Amino acid sequence: MFGQKPKSTIIERVKSTKNKKSPVTFVRRYWLIASLIILPLLASLVFNNWYNAHIDQSISQANANTSQLLKKANDQLVANAKLRAEAKAAREKAANEAADAARTANESTVSTINSSACNTASSHSNPANIDVLVNKKHCLQPLSYAPGDLVTSNGATLSAKAISAYNQLFAAAAAAGQGFSVTSSYRSYGDQVSTYNYWVSVSGKEGADTYSARPGYSEHQTGLAFDVAAGSCVLDCFGATSQYQWLQANAADYGFIQRYYAGYENITGYKAEEWHYRYVGTAVAKDMQARGIKTLEQYWDILGGGYYY
Ligand SMILES: [Zn+2]
Repeated sequence: MFGQKPKSTIIERVKSTKNKKSPVTFVRRYWLIASLIILPLLASLVFNNWYNAHIDQSISQANANTSQLLKKANDQLVANAKLRAEAKAAREKAANEAADAARTANESTVSTINSSACNTASSHSNPANIDVLVNKKHCLQPLSYAPGDLVTSNGATLSAKAISAYNQLFAAAAAAGQGFSVTSSYRSYGDQVSTYNYWVSVSGKEGADTYSARPGYSEHQTGLAFDVAAGSCVLDCFGATSQYQWLQANAADYGFIQRYYAGYENITGYKAEEWHYRYVGTAVAKDMQARGIKTLEQYWDILGGGYYY
């Protein structure tokens, strides 16, 4: 019963196996074609994986590098901004300190200066006299001098010593059809502190010194000087007016002189001011006119020009 298997059965099996279309049979039959398809696919998959991994790594590295560069650039920007801020703060601090120093120097100059240091003249140095000379080398003594006899009339506040002559001049000009107005006359030491400091803030000390007197150095503080205008013509245009011509011809008869002429800047210390008049009395004014002397510095032989310091 359990001996050799009948041959027919084996053959049938083989036949049946041959006829049966199993995957194994298919692979065996088409292994070459399958290989040609699968192997490249596998190779492609492997390559893709490797390539992607490699690219990812490169991108990561590049990203890391970029981040590092960006961080470095950002750090640099932050450092630069900090440096700039520090430099700006240092500049502002220096400017503030300079301003403080200037203020302190100005205040100490103003409050502690010995008038004799800025006025060594032995004559023409008494501001209570009409022959006083005030210029950049000759300050008022004391610096904060104020006339005790101020009078206000016809728009001007002047020393009583000059006021009646001024009133006569004012009336005579009006009568001749050459009336003028006064824009500035007596200015106190305090007024000049404000005025001078204002111009220093606009032009700096050097600039301000060319056109604005330092406190204690202004002729306006004597109560013997005033500035005139013709209608709306104030300051620089005044020299071109008929009022100016009238004053040139007649002011001396009332004891007044134009204090600052063009061409005498090195002597007076100021540029021309056709509008600034000073009372010196008729004797001096007429004598200067007769002799063609244009400055008090030359007339009294007293040093003028710029400040000592
Ligand atoms: Zn003036």
